[in-house]
This record gives sequence, C-alpha cells and structure tokens, in this order.
Amino acid sequence: MATNAEEFGDDWQAEVERRVLAEITPDSDKSSEWIVTVVEHVAAATADLAVDDAEGFDWQVLDSGEQFRVCDGCGGIIDTDSEGRWSSLKEVWACDGCIESAGQSRSVAWLIDEYGQHRFHVTDYEITAQDGDDIEGVLERSWVSSSAWRGYYETKPVDGEWREAESGWTTGGWGDPVAESKRSFNEWAEGVVAGGIEVPCPVWIITDPTSNLFSTAVGVFVPADFEGDICVPKF
Ligand SMILES: [Zn+2]
Repeated sequence: MATNAEEFGDDWQAEVERRVLAEITPDSDKSSEWIVTVVEHVAAATADLAVDDAEGFDWQVLDSGEQFRVCDGCGGIIDTDSEGRWSSLKEVWACDGCIESAGQSRSVAWLIDEYGQHRFHVTDYEITAQDGDDIEGVLERSWVSSSAWRGYYETKPVDGEWREAESGWTTGGWGDPVAESKRSFNEWAEGVVAGGIEVPCPVWIITDPTSNLFSTAVGVFVPADFEGDICVPKF
C-alpha cells in the first residue's frame, strides 16, 4: 500500500481538506454547527490518513514539522523516543499499551526435541523465544472466527514439515465434569513439557486462546514423516 508520502507528496494537509470538502457542503451562514461538523470531519479524515500511513512505515509529518508514528492497535500517536515498538512480524508500530494487551491473548508453543524443551510466545505483534529473542519463520498464527464474536487463534509450526497428530480444546482444573475429562490430556502435556514423559520424535504442543476465557485450543504436531504413535490421550 502506498504511504501518504508517496501518494500525496508534501500535500497531505491539502488532501485532508479535499476529503473534508468532498464530505460536506458548507451552509451559507457558516453556523457554529457547521464549524463543529468541519472539525469532526477534519478529525475523521486525519485519522483515516494516519491509519493508512501506519500500514506503510514512513514517518507521518505534521505541518509543524513534527514527526510521529501511529499505533496499529489503537490509532494513537506514539512518541517513539520513549515508547512503542516496531513489529517486524506485522510490519507496524504499536504502543506499549497495545503490545501489553496483545500479550494477554498470547499463544504458548512448546517444542520438545532432542535438545530439550523450548518455549515460544506468540502474540499479534511478536513471536519470542524463552530468552526474549524475536523469532520469525518458526510459527505462524491466525485468527479463525466461528461467528462475529467467537473464534480462536490457530498457531502452526511452519519451519519444516509437520502434521497435526491431535487437536481439540482443554480447560483448567476447575473440578467440573468437563475439566475432569480433560485431565488426562493436561497431565500428558505437562509431563512431556516437564520432561517426565518421553516422546519418540520432536513434538510441538501449542495452546491458543479462544473467545471463551475458560477454554484453550490445543494442537499437537509431529514431523510429517513420523509414522509412529506418540500416544496423546484423547481429549
Ligand atoms: Zn496502541
């Protein structure tokens, strides 16, 4: 997508004006309501342009010469000297607040291989390894919506050939009958991750948040050419 700078050159302010005038026809008496309408439309047109710009990654420049970045999450202005982060995963800037709230719906992926257990966190903005390093090209996450308000994240390993050996959903140990039926899977997964249960091949165990706070989507992946059984309890 073309950035504002490419599309409008230095004439960004003029473009705001053009969009505003295209939207509204001024009353002859320029009443105070009309002025309020103009102000609202200027704000809306400016916000539209600012969001366009955030999708490229050029600096946005005001008439005053001030430069700023626009947060991909909330559309707010980021003072990048003191806050915010560039997400190379999504190729956008995001403010600290949006990075933090994205962390609350993170997916957790464990890779168990001959070198041990490796934990990764996946959010809308970043994929990080246990040591905090940014990792790309290992996992891919998307949102699968089942209705306007419901859905779940789906994270898959993309580094190498993998097949999903088991998938489903689980829940915490709340003591209800459903939770009980999930217990054997949870115990298996915890055992594999802790190293107490050995697996015959590299295994990914990936948990993804869903729109139901009490339910977690789970995927277990093994190498595509592995023909054995890793004995995942049904859940
Ligand atoms: Zn934000």
